[in-house]
Amino acid sequence: MITPTFHLIGLPTDCNSSFARGPAAAPAAIREALWSDRGNLAAEDGQEIGHDFLLEDRGDLPLAETPDDDAIIRNAVTESLTAGAMPILLGGDHAVSFPIVQAIAAKHGPVNILHFDAHPDLYDDFAGNPRSHASPFARILEAGLCRRLVQVGIRTLNRHCREQAARFGVEIVPMADFTPGKVPVLDGPLYISLDLDGFDPSEAPGVSHPEPGGLRVREVLSVLHAQTGQIVGADVVELNPRFDAHDRTAILAAKLVREVAATAARNLR
Ligand code: MN
Ligand code: MN
Repeated sequence: MITPTFHLIGLPTDCNSSFARGPAAAPAAIREALWSDRGNLAAEDGQEIGHDFLLEDRGDLPLAETPDDDAIIRNAVTESLTAGAMPILLGGDHAVSFPIVQAIAAKHGPVNILHFDAHPDLYDDFAGNPRSHASPFARILEAGLCRRLVQVGIRTLNRHCREQAARFGVEIVPMADFTPGKVPVLDGPLYISLDLDGFDPSEAPGVSHPEPGGLRVREVLSVLHAQTGQIVGADVVELNPRFDAHDRTAILAAKLVREVAATAARNLR
């Protein structure tokens, strides 16, 4: 059979961040961790990059903080899908998920989304910006690009976002008494969005909006590995290298790239 192929695409942009710039430097930090001799290329299930699946690094997109950026992102995702590869996007702030999912839904139809985050990112707009990194899932849902949105790690739900979640039928798995078994297994086509602030800050300090009481790495891996649907794309967003400690969060982001790719490859077989 054809070896499953993934395209790694860097999105060096943080112009839709609401509090702190920095995620534009994340793709380089994640690549450095991914290819460093400090680690190796195996996922936890034993599949290896370059052997059981291919991970082609397509470099960073030339984003310029203009309205054209969304089209540049959509075109790159479409190109990967047309080539028969699955795109894995490295943010950047979380605003990038909207144009990514636009391109994926144009190919596959409305997707199911498994979204890890401390924040629901459902604001109609944030501080007057409808493209804020606090709003991508409002844009995705109102455009009809998503069938089920399941959110894991949420622990900052205010009144406005609770109303938005009810309006769009978002399924939020409560953080209180969280266990991985409470997260549903979603049918494909499945998109996975990993905001690193979904993790507990003790395991992922390098983010702009650390929120205590978060997910453990082991819990997120359990949820991810339990998914059996066809994964059609993924993003790893919101790494802010300015706040990282000994590259711990970059190393975690690189591990998530390996694990998402391995899970997607396994689900194709
Ligand atoms: Mn987010
Ligand atoms: Mn977040």
